[in-house]
Amino acid sequence: MDLNRLSVNTATLGEVPIKEAVDLLARAQVPAIGPWRHDLGPVGATGAARLIRDAGLQVSGLCRGGFFTKDQYGNRGDNHRAVDEALEIGAKCLVVVSGGLLQGSKSLPFSHEAIRNGLALLLDYARPLGMPIAIEPLHPMYAADRCAINTLGHALELCDGLGPGIGVAIDAYHLWWDRNLAQDIEKAGKQQLITAYHVCDWLVPTQHLLLDRGLMGEGVIDLKNLSQMVGGAGYSGFVEVEIFSERLWSKPPERIVQEVMDAFTFYV
Ligand code: ZN
Repeated sequence: MDLNRLSVNTATLGEVPIKEAVDLLARAQVPAIGPWRHDLGPVGATGAARLIRDAGLQVSGLCRGGFFTKDQYGNRGDNHRAVDEALEIGAKCLVVVSGGLLQGSKSLPFSHEAIRNGLALLLDYARPLGMPIAIEPLHPMYAADRCAINTLGHALELCDGLGPGIGVAIDAYHLWWDRNLAQDIEKAGKQQLITAYHVCDWLVPTQHLLLDRGLMGEGVIDLKNLSQMVGGAGYSGFVEVEIFSERLWSKPPERIVQEVMDAFTFYV
C-alpha cells in the first residue's frame, strides 16, 4: 500500500503524549493520525486540533463513541461530547463501538434493539453537524462486554433504515474470519458505506485477547487480498494501522513508526 494512504492510530504508539505522537508522525511524513479520545490528554480536543493542524496532519477518524447499552439513554452525553471532539479535530468520522449486552440482561435481541435506538439518537445529533458515524463491528469474543455487533453484515443491517450520515469501519483484526466478508464488503461498497478501514494482524498463537495483535505480515490475515476487496468496493480513504501490542510498545516510538511504515508498504 502506498504510504500516502497511511494513518497511524495513537494506540499503536503506546503511552505517548499527543504532541510527541504528532511530531513523530510529521517527521516521518506520515500523512494522517487516528487518535483515541483519551490520548488527546491534558491539551484536550482544542489543543490537539491545533497541534495536528500545525503539523499538517489529517485525521482519519476519532476513536471512539458508542456503548449504547451502557444506560437507558444510549450513553447520550458522552456520545455528544465525542461528536463535538471529532468536529474540533477535523476527523473524517467518529468511530463507534456498540457496547455489549444491556446492563443486567442476557438478551441479545433486546441489546441489539437498544443499540439501534442509541445509534438513531446519535445520528439525530451528528447528522446536522456533518460528522459521519462509522460503526465498527468487533470480533465476537467481545460480544458480552464491548460490542454485540460482530459481523459486517450485522453492521450493514443497522445502517439500513437509519438514513444518511452512517457507515461502517472495516477492521481486519475483527472481521477476517467471516466467510461472508467478501460479499458484505461488496454490498457495503455499492451503498457507499465504507467509512474507515483499520489494519493489523492476527497472531497464532494469540497470547492475550486485547494486547497481542500483530504488525501487518506477522500473522495469518491475507491483508493484501482484503485491501484489494476494500479498494475494489470503492474505498480510497486512509488505511489506519491500529495495533494493541505490549511487544510493540516495548520499543522506542520512532522504531514503531518505522516498522509500521515498512509493514504497510510490503503487506497491506
Ligand atoms: Zn479498529
